[in-house]
Amino acid sequence: MSELFETLRPHLERRFALENALTLYGWDNETLAPKEAMENTAKIIGTLSAEAYRALVNDEVRSLLEALSMPKEFDALTIMEQCIVKKLSKNLKRLEKIPADEFRAFSELTAKAGSIWAKAKEDNDFSAFAPTLKEIVSYQKKFAAYTKKPEISLYDAMLDENEEGILTRELDIFFEKIKEDVIPLLKKVVAVNDTVDKEYNYQKFPIDKQKEFCRFLAEYIGFDFARGVMAESAHPFTTNLHNHDVRITNHFHENNLESAMFSVIHEGGHALYELGVDDALTLTAVGGGTSMGVHESQSRFYENVLGRSEAFWKPIYEKLQNTYPEALSDIELSQFIRGINKAEPGPVRTEADELTYPLHIIIRYEIEKMLMEDLISVDELPRVWNEKYEEYLGIAPKNDAEGVLQDVHWSGGAFGYFPSYAIGNAVAAQIYAYMHNEVNVKECLENGNLMPIREYLREHIHCFGSTKNMNELLIAMTGEPLNAEYYTKYLTEKYTKLYLE
Ligand code: ZN
Repeated sequence: MSELFETLRPHLERRFALENALTLYGWDNETLAPKEAMENTAKIIGTLSAEAYRALVNDEVRSLLEALSMPKEFDALTIMEQCIVKKLSKNLKRLEKIPADEFRAFSELTAKAGSIWAKAKEDNDFSAFAPTLKEIVSYQKKFAAYTKKPEISLYDAMLDENEEGILTRELDIFFEKIKEDVIPLLKKVVAVNDTVDKEYNYQKFPIDKQKEFCRFLAEYIGFDFARGVMAESAHPFTTNLHNHDVRITNHFHENNLESAMFSVIHEGGHALYELGVDDALTLTAVGGGTSMGVHESQSRFYENVLGRSEAFWKPIYEKLQNTYPEALSDIELSQFIRGINKAEPGPVRTEADELTYPLHIIIRYEIEKMLMEDLISVDELPRVWNEKYEEYLGIAPKNDAEGVLQDVHWSGGAFGYFPSYAIGNAVAAQIYAYMHNEVNVKECLENGNLMPIREYLREHIHCFGSTKNMNELLIAMTGEPLNAEYYTKYLTEKYTKLYLE
């Protein structure tokens, strides 16, 4: 045991506790907190953020981390301790370049910006959000400039924050491949998808029955209600406090069957990741999922690869029909499967099908890149947004609420985050291609036994928390780093079989 590491430990515990409290506030703001709480809560969040900042950025922690990074000390640490030292040293180097007062002001700004954005969206008024967004963009650019390596761009620095080592150079190639394969495929699929009858999905589905069925789905995929809870929020999301407290939310629409069902499978996929982190890692700086891209790979694997397959529904479709007999008794499983995969270009990302989804991400990626390179201004965002939707999806959002204001991300300062969604899809397809060597996925699904699938993911991904990055996990599992080929091949095969054969 390293004595030096033991001296560091109380500092780590303090920082972890403060960050955990902030996470809990984040959860509360989205689920239960009253509307009027925001102004005061933002101040508390500002104070806690400043404390969390100081728990890491101080002379004692700095000198301990420096000493622990020396080869002799470092080699004597366990692998987990080494990962913690590496991660915190990186965070510290980044954070200490940002002046404490600016960091605090930014935390307060983003704590308030969520409700400003929500109001602007409700009123369909981009100009009400634009001044706040300008401030957020300016902070993000300043922070990236303080912390980035000289050879990379501001946007690259933001991307690196989200997915270590995946910069615009890699993403340009990645997205080019997707455009090349998906756009022509989408055209073919959309041409025949008009005939797919999906009216059943928009009948009346009582909310209490939806809640009950979603709870069943969560348990069916392996969500553990003794270590997790489910609440409601405007947009479904997952919050992780530690591996014995993982929380998901959902939203319910009476006239849409799919929305809540696939949201719960999606968030359930995120939750399984966090619930599967090794006990030795939880409550430490490396105790959460390793990156947003890998996180999305887990949620999308459950939602799309498993959840939208015929094998998944075979054992439980009758239960679904019995839950809503009026709407579904005449709908055959095959029609339901064609319905839940139907590709239709639409204006809203979160409602998008699997095939149009990556195009929504490409649009955001291109816009963020232009914004950070000063090629466009915040005021021009609505126009550029609408032009891109016309270009890639052939549709015009009917207003800004449905267009540029649809996503919450920018109000939280999350630039460089959207690509994680597409990366997640690609990682899911790559994992799926190799998982067959060890697990008969189709058979597991048809037998209604999803545990071998979860165990495989737990063993190869979940248990490691963030001690390995995305490409390290992929290389260990599949022998190669991220490769978009698997993703476009998966989409081509799936959609050809469903609609084009
Ligand atoms: Zn997600």
